[in-house]
Amino acid sequence: MCQDRDSVSVRVRIAARLSHTGEAYWRDMRIDRCIAPIVAALQAANIDMLASCCGHGKTSGRIDLADGRVLTIEMTENEDDKRRRLEHFRTADPEEAP
Ligand SMILES: [Zn+2]
Repeated sequence: MCQDRDSVSVRVRIAARLSHTGEAYWRDMRIDRCIAPIVAALQAANIDMLASCCGHGKTSGRIDLADGRVLTIEMTENEDDKRRRLEHFRTADPEEAP
């Protein structure tokens, strides 16, 4: 999570319906550093968004997409949770299933 408004510049597409000119355009926006790679990946995939916030350690992070959906970003609580998640995905692998 970013402390003290730690942000980086990411080129984002402003959708036509949100644009003051009525035309879509690209603009550099300050994005919370820890979620900036996710935002950049969404932009590279032409997924329009309205807003983003990492939650700054106080709440879940979120990326509001232009179509009304919200991506929620949860942090793994601790090493035990992380290990359990990894084990879950490992056992979901058909190559390793009994
Ligand atoms: Zn952050």
